[in-house]
Amino acid sequence: MTADRVPAMFDPAAESMPEDQRAGLQQRRLSGMIDRLLAAGGLQGRRLAEAGVTGGADVALADLPRLPMTGKTDIWSQYPFQMLAVPLSEVVTVHGSSGTGGRPTLVAYTRADLQLWARMCARALAAAGATRGSIVHNAYGYGLFTGGLGIHQGAIELGATVIPVSGGMTSRQVTLIRDLRPDILTCTPSYAIRLGEALAEAGLGPGGGLAIRAGIFGAEPWTDALRARIEQLLGLRALDIYGLAEIIGPGVAAECVVAADGLHVNEDHFLVEAVDPVSGAPVPDGTAGELVFSTVTKEALPLLRYRTGDIAALRRGTCACGRTLVKMSKITGRRDDMLVIRGINVYPSEVERVLLAEPSLAPDYLLVVDERAAQARLLACCEYITDAAAPASSSELEARLRAALGLSVQVSLEPAGTVPRTEVGKAVRVARWTGGDPPLPGLS
Ligand SMILES: [Zn+2]
Repeated sequence: MTADRVPAMFDPAAESMPEDQRAGLQQRRLSGMIDRLLAAGGLQGRRLAEAGVTGGADVALADLPRLPMTGKTDIWSQYPFQMLAVPLSEVVTVHGSSGTGGRPTLVAYTRADLQLWARMCARALAAAGATRGSIVHNAYGYGLFTGGLGIHQGAIELGATVIPVSGGMTSRQVTLIRDLRPDILTCTPSYAIRLGEALAEAGLGPGGGLAIRAGIFGAEPWTDALRARIEQLLGLRALDIYGLAEIIGPGVAAECVVAADGLHVNEDHFLVEAVDPVSGAPVPDGTAGELVFSTVTKEALPLLRYRTGDIAALRRGTCACGRTLVKMSKITGRRDDMLVIRGINVYPSEVERVLLAEPSLAPDYLLVVDERAAQARLLACCEYITDAAAPASSSELEARLRAALGLSVQVSLEPAGTVPRTEVGKAVRVARWTGGDPPLPGLS
């Protein structure tokens, strides 16, 4: 993409700020947040006091990895409003996500929090190439879920025209896309596929006169393979957006249309760390770790070092789009899915990526963690396609897995029908072998 086609940023001063200048801003904002948490005296304030922190001025940015963390169970235990750092009268709305034991993960917003959120979503839309002249077809669900209203307010903040169509009623969506000719589509990646198929059935596929240039897809993890499929189906640039209600909703990070190789984190408002999911220690840039955010400018529910459970790697440097904001990779797994094999963290999704890239293997596989000995080992049981033109040998696959994971994985190639079937994209296909018969016959 040539320089004259790089879309304008929504907030160029913040998004392309030199890193040292941003560090100063982050420092001031972190100190201010610590003071507010200490003054509010809630759970987080008490933890800071117990850690010996008496004021924001005591805390340098480099001290962040030593400060106490928060997690989803804190939000549940303080449900609904015990974690507020402002009086309830300052709260103008709430959003949330599904929780546990009948308690949603509820997050409160002040008027300033809503304005911040709108600006973050406006940044994401502008990074996708949206302008004041854009029409945004917003098919994220509206309601307690943050997707719909977050993007809605962002589009208005940008000055675009937003179509608040929400999710579902696909035939009505097809009519609106045909008649209103949006240039930006926002929805979950799975709904993008559904909508793309419905548009194609209506004769509105690529070449059928669609005006959509880019789509911003999030609220569920998705792969680059799905990106290619969406782009082919809808004839647009498919971009990832990341967020979670606890931090603010969508707009925590978003891909730019120029590079589309990772999501720019709005780190002037959401300090981001990647940590080892077990030890909590920082991992180096480029290494997958659990994302931890500190919402340094939020008022109602500021969260210090919130553990997301989402696994991704961070990457620094100036992007071709001009942004200096750190990039996070696509989410490659969840903390809860992680396996520890001989001290090495392994995400089943990483193994899957290597296996599914091999055309002579069927998509059905089972990972077996052999825990019979003190040192666990990992086995990958894969089904081969009987009439594959160039079948891969197990030693070739083992070499690829070693290169990708830094770990020896024993590959066993099985005939079709050996591996138990699971719903595509659903279950993490892992079995533990602690003794007795192997999870699949014939393993040793
Ligand atoms: Zn960029």
